[in-house]
Amino acid sequence: MSSDPSICVVGGGVAGLTLGIELRRQGVQVELLEAGSYPRHRVCGEFISGAGTGILRQLGIYQQMLDAGGIEAETMRLYGQRHRSPVLPMPEAALCISRYRMDRIMADAYLSLGGVLRQGSRVTGKDALAREGMVMATGKRMGPHQNATHLGFKVHAQGLELAADLELHFAPGAYVGLCRIENGLVNVCGLVSERLAPRDLRYTWRSFIGSLLHPSCREAFDAAIMDTTSLCFSAGLHYGLKPVLNDQSLYIGDRSLSIPPLSGNGMSIGMETSMMASRQLIAFARGTRPWKDALGRIQKDYYRRFRSRLVWAGGLQSLMLPMRHNLLREWTVACAKWHYRFLYRVTR
Ligand SMILES: Cc1cc2nc3c(=O)[nH]c(=O)nc-3n(C[C@H](O)[C@H](O)[C@H](O)COP(=O)(O)OP(=O)(O)OC[C@H]3O[C@@H](n4cnc5c(N)ncnc54)[C@H](O)[C@@H]3O)c2cc1C
Repeated sequence: MSSDPSICVVGGGVAGLTLGIELRRQGVQVELLEAGSYPRHRVCGEFISGAGTGILRQLGIYQQMLDAGGIEAETMRLYGQRHRSPVLPMPEAALCISRYRMDRIMADAYLSLGGVLRQGSRVTGKDALAREGMVMATGKRMGPHQNATHLGFKVHAQGLELAADLELHFAPGAYVGLCRIENGLVNVCGLVSERLAPRDLRYTWRSFIGSLLHPSCREAFDAAIMDTTSLCFSAGLHYGLKPVLNDQSLYIGDRSLSIPPLSGNGMSIGMETSMMASRQLIAFARGTRPWKDALGRIQKDYYRRFRSRLVWAGGLQSLMLPMRHNLLREWTVACAKWHYRFLYRVTR
């Protein structure tokens, strides 16, 4: 770490990179420390919706995502184990692109604006994290957690025909999202209750994921070619309604609050928290606002802006992911054309 950059961002996922780009656009000195390197695969539905697409436009990188093969999703379809909805028009434009491509484009945009990026830099130790101007964008806290409930998985498939740009399949205790991304690939990503996930999932993932899909789609899934280099898992996931706050460092993105992934709104929230934080951070960096004051204002805004979205998404996850067969889930899928626009709107 350099001795005194104005702002130091720890973690270069969607949230950290958004903040880095925006601060550089405003002429603020930024250093970004990322434990890994680019490009790389991550567990993510790779479906960007809500305010997120507007923020990518504002940052001037939306077109680059399309040029890199990103797909604007126009249709969606929901599946239960027995029922399925008709193909439905997307309530609003959404962008589907792999995190492999997306994070790389964002990192390049940040570098081209003069941002300092240190890859392979894992920040540890409380002292390092306690200084003013430090922003934690380190993603969800993983590992043992008393409320850990879910496991995430993702793999890219080649030659998999979908009925819509986005398909969501619901099964007891699990969901799988499939969306078209660049190069004719389909991202297959989902969440399963840890109690239902097989212990040997690393070896049996293909048949397990297939078993979660609607029966009419299993044959196509079995026939598709899987890109095993993109296969990844993340265990120990848990979702709460309250933002995680800290009175010394600023938290953004999943480090602060994470919405259940079936809402498809996590990346957008990551970008939104970054844009909210940037306004106060610019004032701090220019010396017009003390750190504590900037921190307090941002954290208060989190409650106001995201509470309703988190409540709706939490309710939706409870409705769609109970562990037993459930008529309500099947009914929600079968009647989707009546309510999907409403559910889409309230989770964004
Ligand atoms: C199964 C599943 C499906 C999802 N589907 C979608 C979807 O379709 N649409 C959507 O919008 N969202 C989706 N999400 C949520 C989305 O992936 C997250 O909300 C988003 O990635 C959060 O971004 P972030 O930048 O906060 O964290 P991350 O993307 O996790 O980035 C954190 C970064 O910090 C780095 N880091 C961690 N610790 C340190 C350290 N000590 N020092 C330095 N660097 C560190 C990591 O290497 C990483 O690069 C999904 C999530 C899951 C689990």
